[in-house]
Amino acid sequence: MTPREVLALCREREIKAVDLRFMDFPGMQKHFTVPMQALTEESFEDGFGFDGSSIRGWKAINEADMLLIPVPESAMVDPFMQSTLALYCNIHDPVTGEEYAKDPRNVARKAENYMKSTGLADAAFFGIEAEFFLFDGVRFEQNEHEGYYHIDSSEGQWNRGREGAAGNAGYSIRYKEGYFPVPPADTLQDIRTEMMLTLMDCGVEVESQHHEVASGGQCEIDMKYQPLVNMADNLLLYKYVVKNVAARHGKTATFMPKPIWNDNGSGMHIHLSLWKNDEPLFAGSGYAGLSPVAMYAMGGILKHAPALLAFCSPTTNSYKRLVPGFEAPVNLAYSSQNRSAAIRIPVYSPSPAKKRFEFRCPDPSSNGYLAVSAMLMAALDGIQNKIDPGPPLDKDIYDMQADELETVAKTPRSLEESLNALRDDHEFLLRGDVFTEDVIDTWIWYKTEHEVEALRARPHPFEFAMYYDV
Ligand code: GLU
Ligand code: MG
Ligand code: MG
Repeated sequence: MTPREVLALCREREIKAVDLRFMDFPGMQKHFTVPMQALTEESFEDGFGFDGSSIRGWKAINEADMLLIPVPESAMVDPFMQSTLALYCNIHDPVTGEEYAKDPRNVARKAENYMKSTGLADAAFFGIEAEFFLFDGVRFEQNEHEGYYHIDSSEGQWNRGREGAAGNAGYSIRYKEGYFPVPPADTLQDIRTEMMLTLMDCGVEVESQHHEVASGGQCEIDMKYQPLVNMADNLLLYKYVVKNVAARHGKTATFMPKPIWNDNGSGMHIHLSLWKNDEPLFAGSGYAGLSPVAMYAMGGILKHAPALLAFCSPTTNSYKRLVPGFEAPVNLAYSSQNRSAAIRIPVYSPSPAKKRFEFRCPDPSSNGYLAVSAMLMAALDGIQNKIDPGPPLDKDIYDMQADELETVAKTPRSLEESLNALRDDHEFLLRGDVFTEDVIDTWIWYKTEHEVEALRARPHPFEFAMYYDV
């Protein structure tokens, strides 16, 4: 869509307001709105000013002015706002006119360009599966079983027990049996369909929607694969649609990776395939129908996984998900068969065009632009340096003997560990100026100060359950 076409769309749909959107540094969507009259063809070059010092991790107060430059191709009539057109924006420095290095969307654009400049591939497709929970509400209070918080779910069976469930006691989903039951046990079917149809109205191609394994309201909607920047844009929209449809029904959606202890957490598996001259580079005659290029790409991701997780599993809560027994990976290995490995090669279809692998460590607390860019950079490093991913792990890793398991590298056990790994291993991210030193330093600083240390300093509610009566 050109700027002129955007303006024509506004007239045709009787648009009265234009909402300008971008992603902050840790990964929350931000916006402000201008009247329709303020949007002209020139706006797509001149942009709109705002105060960058009030955005997490961005400019200092003395150099705060920044510009939003709207991206015409992203135009969409907002399904939740009155007569409003939404536009995603790139961030520029008003003085130099340069694109801002700490704009996550800019990092993603640079990652795509860097990939093309290497000549290794001319297209990368990403498929993101972001799981989430729908709850009726959250109350942070003392609870007799877990001792610290209480989540209300219309499915009602998590912490109240099947007997005590409100409304649908006889049909509630059993522990770990949330994968695919029909209504009335699945009470969220129509809400997910509404989310799916809303996404489709906004131009996102959707493959399917379903209940996920955890009882208590775990859901997944799968979007069709896209190039990097488009996929990350769609993820922003996905979260927006999921949260707003949930709100319409008096529910809350959460993308935090592990809201419920001792049940499945929410992953954000990322599927990747690389292409050159319209040929799939991952299809071959090796393990699980993969090519050497695919093996090296996996080698890069596994090698850099501890550092990658600083972007792909970027919250303190992420590491409560990466524990054995809940389909989340804890072993840095690959396999075509089981979901307990960090990388899985789906074998649903023998078609070379569908050859891809799935990185299972990421979770939806990630900033999609940064997570996907970091994953691509690790894959490219693997290909450039022919990094051997080692042998596959085709046994169920959870069932392996302790001494066998010791030889398998593990995912970091905390955000702090991942941030330390990133501090030591980020040269692969700096290539093509994709992630700058400033981006890496700011990320480590922000996450350490505002999350790791912030949590460490606070008495945890569970400490009351363990220690109150010492
Ligand atoms: N919820 C699981 C996770 O934490 C994944 C389940 C699945 O394979 O879709 O990654
Ligand atoms: Mg899933
Ligand atoms: Mg998956």
